[in-house]
Amino acid sequence: MDHFAYKAGVLHAEDVPLPAIAAEVGTPVYVYSRATLTRHARVFLDGLAALPSKHVAFAVKSNPNVAVLRVLAREGLGADVVSAGEMDRALAAGMPARGIVFSGVGKTLAEMRRALEAGIGQFNLESEEEGVELARLAASMGLVASAALRVNPDVDAGTHGKISTGKAENKFGVPYDRAAGIYGRLAVLPGLEMRGLAVHIGSQLASLAPLEAAFVKMGELMRAIRAGGDAITHMDLGGGVGVPYKAGEVFPTPAEYGAMVARVTADWGVTLMFEPGRVISGNSGVLVTEVVRVKEGVSAPFVVVDAAMNDLARPALYDAWHDFLAVVPNGARMVANIVGPICETSDTFAMGREIDAVGPGDLAVFRTAGAYGATMANTYNSRSLVPEVMVDGDRWAVVAERIDPATILAAEHVPDWLG
Ligand SMILES: *Cc1c(COP(=O)(O)O)cnc(C)c1O
Repeated sequence: MDHFAYKAGVLHAEDVPLPAIAAEVGTPVYVYSRATLTRHARVFLDGLAALPSKHVAFAVKSNPNVAVLRVLAREGLGADVVSAGEMDRALAAGMPARGIVFSGVGKTLAEMRRALEAGIGQFNLESEEEGVELARLAASMGLVASAALRVNPDVDAGTHGKISTGKAENKFGVPYDRAAGIYGRLAVLPGLEMRGLAVHIGSQLASLAPLEAAFVKMGELMRAIRAGGDAITHMDLGGGVGVPYKAGEVFPTPAEYGAMVARVTADWGVTLMFEPGRVISGNSGVLVTEVVRVKEGVSAPFVVVDAAMNDLARPALYDAWHDFLAVVPNGARMVANIVGPICETSDTFAMGREIDAVGPGDLAVFRTAGAYGATMANTYNSRSLVPEVMVDGDRWAVVAERIDPATILAAEHVPDWLG
């Protein structure tokens, strides 16, 4: 459930009509609903209510806007970060350092040093090499780094190949069969406190079955490591729960997810950690766009909108579907191709889709754009960096300004020697 709904024929974010925002900020613009973010955080936490000890770290990469992070910090969420830049955002939003988990295969020594200085709660190690480096660094600073070892369980998440992370050939984590050996070798290093295992098999999972298969394997590995004499007090189960992008799609609910986790982990005796991203942020945002013109096509007209793949990359990257709705529908329907202005055929949001009839100057939204939306934006074709707005009841604020091409041009320089 979200708080984007029609009132008197006009699409609103909570109590704010989207045309009011478009008139002031311009388009394209991302609009987030504070109430939806809060609701999704609470529904996720409620789903885990039966678990005795847990920590939920929001996957910052899904939506790193500092106002979004502030909303989630107020709900008690920590952060799963994949760079020092994301760590800084989580801290700036008021998330305690102890609630931050640092994931990612390419943490640099400089980033690890910054994270140790900040006192983050856990490093999720993606390799033995990284663990050895972190141990040496922490020891040299007179510190002990708490760490979990990310394991690749070789489970097919059944999602898009580019967002699958838990197959043996993927770059993430250490191979399942070698994990116990690596854990044992890292556990004896000074500077490192190995406290558990981590797993994340992919994003936008439509079914709980691959998650359950992965968690069962992780439980077996945990028992084997404990039998070998090493301690495990924390198990990080990652993120990955999918959300409906098409009206009518049914996805596992947080309650069903929580029940599965409770069943699989009943005798684990650990603090469970979670890294949800999309399931909290996805349906909390829309991308508002204006129709530039409607161009005749061979089999269907092209609705050319002022949003493009640089603003919302998911359709170009993953063939992703985003529902497209007129902000003020006139009741008629049309079949059209929805495209942006960028000079790439991949700048296509939909082909041959039945949509609300729209014409030049009409406003429309791409729904479910709160996750992996603005954060992937870029300025390709010398377009603006898209702004972001947050609505809360009947008030709203720009939470990320539009960065226009002139500002970006001003940061470029022609060296003297080019004359
Ligand atoms: C991307 C990512 C997540 C979040 O994934 P969602 O599908 O958005 O829940 C969690 N953990 C790690 C390590 C990730 O890379």
